[in-house]
Formats: sequence, structure tokens, C-alpha cells
Amino acid sequence: LVIALSAVLDLIRSVVFTALRVLRKERALLLKSKIIEDYPEIYEFLELNERVTEELVKEQPFPVQNFFDNVYPDVRNRAKDEWYATRVRVAAEGEIVKCSLCNRTIENICYISNDLTNEHLIVGSRCVQHFRINTDKIGADLERILSGQMHVRRLNRLNTRIPGIRKTVEGWKTHQEQYPILVEFELAKQFDQVTNRAEQLLQDYFKKRSLRSKDDEAIIAELQTLEKQQSALIAQMNLYVEERKGKKHAPTMKIARHLKSRGLHGIVEQLQKDEAITWPTARYIDEPDFMQYVASALSKPLEVKGLSIKADIANNRHKGYMLEHVDTKSVQLFSSHSDLVLSLGGLIFDEPLIDPMSLSNIISISNISKLSDAHRRRSAETVVRNLATKTRTSDVWVQDYDYSLNEVVLYDGKAKKYVKGNLLAFIDTFKGLVFGVKGKTVSDMARYASSLPGSRYTRKELNELEQTLKDFNKRPGETRYDDEETAS
Ligand SMILES: [Zn+2]
Repeated sequence: LVIALSAVLDLIRSVVFTALRVLRKERALLLKSKIIEDYPEIYEFLELNERVTEELVKEQPFPVQNFFDNVYPDVRNRAKDEWYATRVRVAAEGEIVKCSLCNRTIENICYISNDLTNEHLIVGSRCVQHFRINTDKIGADLERILSGQMHVRRLNRLNTRIPGIRKTVEGWKTHQEQYPILVEFELAKQFDQVTNRAEQLLQDYFKKRSLRSKDDEAIIAELQTLEKQQSALIAQMNLYVEERKGKKHAPTMKIARHLKSRGLHGIVEQLQKDEAITWPTARYIDEPDFMQYVASALSKPLEVKGLSIKADIANNRHKGYMLEHVDTKSVQLFSSHSDLVLSLGGLIFDEPLIDPMSLSNIISISNISKLSDAHRRRSAETVVRNLATKTRTSDVWVQDYDYSLNEVVLYDGKAKKYVKGNLLAFIDTFKGLVFGVKGKTVSDMARYASSLPGSRYTRKELNELEQTLKDFNKRPGETRYDDEETAS
């Protein structure tokens, strides 16, 4: 036992004594620093001895021993303070550079300078970090390079454990988008939750600044569990979509995307819960394909009321339909998607309508002002002329209109003078008269004319005003309703 013990002690002693008192890189830095010039004996000793072991120090005369025991740590710190980094770059492909302090091949090439000795050295980032050499001059460059390299190293490490996990999680984020139809709410939610959790874990993993971290194993284990869960959920979703796709009123992914692009996330959620488009949600879905479907589903019932319907896809200002009245030929009306579906959606979803369908109701939810530019003028002019004819013998009438200026001139029977109003607003208010449906009457129009704000003009004043405007604008004269009527 005694023999064994002394052998162990010998071993410990040999390890201790051959251990370096001065690291190779410390020696290298010290020899290039100014401070060592204050200690010529030590300088000489360091120059002579590449390996300054504990044993070697012990063999030295007292002053040298004393230096290493009591002064050396301070000198080493003062030496490193003389240096500062001036630049950092990453070694090019195939470029082999060695650190002038530790002699290792380096990837992050740091240039350090010492103004006291006028020395310049090329060292690695490890030695810069070991000595805590001042990096203020290179700012965030070193930090950025190091964190980028750490990211890649940690990614490699993760990949050996769960191959392709980062791409896999990235794929989960858009996985549901690939389905032709929207996945049911609970299933979709579970899948999204797992995705979010995995994303969080990856973020946590890559936040770590050292190659190995005590949390790594826990993160990897949980990611593996999540991956299994997602596979099961994907299988369920595949089955769900396979069963539902092509079914009537199944909410399509195209519809979901359209709604989301307009910020209607709540409607998408409702569609997922209902697992179908319903009357209440349909009014929000002004997606072109669905609007075409609405138009075709309503075309038969509308035909009965003398109307043809077309989804006005080209209208980029308003989402809705063009209704054309067969009897009044060229008159087209615009009905917004929301209004029309709200009013007639029951016909699409086999539910009783709130109000029975009538031409009057449809006219009341329609307008001319929101028709696209290409269609508005013809219908507006047909209606205003028709209104003029209808009011010819009453105490209110349409004297004139200017489509370009959106202006109508009405005879205000009460004031016995003329008044100007907004043409499209006037048309939309009284268009029902043209279709012969219940609603506004000619008496209403008389009240409308007398309640319009603005000046009242005599015929003479009106003509003068018109002439002045024409001269001022040098605008070609508009077709006058009066002139045309007189001519025919
Ligand atoms: Zn080094």
C-alpha cells in the first residue's frame, strides 16, 4: 500500500512539475510587450526557455522564483493591456493562417497592435478572448463573426441528432396552406400550437452562446416528441382534407387566403369551426371564385324577377354584382356582395329568406353610383332621362344634367327656381321610379329638390352661369337633355 501511495504521489508530482507556469501564448505576447523591458533578467529567461514549467521555475535563483510567484500575474495583465485589435476577418477558403501566439491554425484572423513597441501580430479570436484584448476598435465585427459561427456549429450539432429539424419546422409553418380546403378548427389549432412550440425551442437553442449547453438534451428530446406529434396530426389532416374536398360549400384555402389578406382572421376561424361556408359567413367572402358561384346560384331566382346577374370581378373599388334589368334594357345596377348575400343568401344555403325576394327589395339594396366606370355612365344617363320624362308634368322636374361634373339641375317647384344637386345621389335615390317599384315618389322628389342646399337660379341666371363656365373651362358642351329631346 505504501509503495502504491508513493507511486501515486510521484505521478502527481511529475504532472505538477511539468505543468507550464507560463503558457506558450503568454510567453509569446510578453516577449512582444513593452513591460517586459522593465525586467531584463526575466526577458532573457523567457527568451531562452520555450517551455517555462513549474519545475524549471523551482530551479531558478530566488529573484526569478519570486518574480513568477508574486509579480508575474500583474505583468501579464499589464502586457495584454498594451494591445488592441485593429481589424478582424474570416480566413478565405483554403487560406491557412497560424496564430502568432498559440500557433494554432485560425479561422477568425484578428490583427492586434501595440503602440508602445510598434509591434503588430496576427492572432486568432480565441487568443483575443483569452487575453481579453481590447476590441473596441473593431466594434461589433468580432461579435457578429463569432455568433454567426456559433450558430452554424450549433446547427450542425442539432442536425446530427434530429436531421433537417429546422427545415421541417419551417415547413410546418406553411403546411396547411398546401391543402385545397381549410382544416377543421381544433385539428388546425393543435398543429399550430406544436409548430409554435417547436419554433420557440429552436429559438432557445440558437440563443445559446456556447457549443454545448445544459438545456440542449431537454430541447432535443422535446423536439423529437413534437416531430412525432406533428406526423400524427399531418396524417389526420390528410384524411380530413381527402374526405371533405370537392364537397359543396367546403371553405377553400383560396378563400381563407383572401380573407386573411383582408385581415378577416375571425371569419377564417368561424369557417374552420363551421367546417362549411354558411349564410352568415358568406357575406364576408368576396373572393372572385366564390362570387362567381354566388352569381350562378342566384341567376335562376333573379331571372324570375327580370334580372340577370354577373359578378363584377373587374370592379376594383367595390366588390359586388352587376344586375341588369331586362325590361329597362341598358340599366345596370350594382349590388355589393355583402348586401346581396345578406338579403338573398338563403337561396344559396337552402334557408328561408328574412324578407321575401322582390324586385323592390333588390332595387333598394342596389345602386348605380358604385358601378365600375365602364358601366356607370350608360345606366346613369338612361335613368336620369327616364326620370326626366316621368316628371315632365309635375311641379319638380329634371332640367339638365352633366355626367362629367356629376351634377343635376332640378326645378324646385316650391321656390319656382332651379337648384343644382349631386347627379348620382339623385339617381340612386329615385331610381325605383324607373323600375316602377314601391319606394320614393314624385312628391318625395319635390321635397328632395326643395331641401337641397345651395343657390336657387332663374332660367336666365342658369343660362348665364352655364355660359360663363363654358367660357372659363373651354370645355366642349355636354349633350343636353333638353336639346336632344327637342331635336327628336
Ligand atoms: Zn492563438
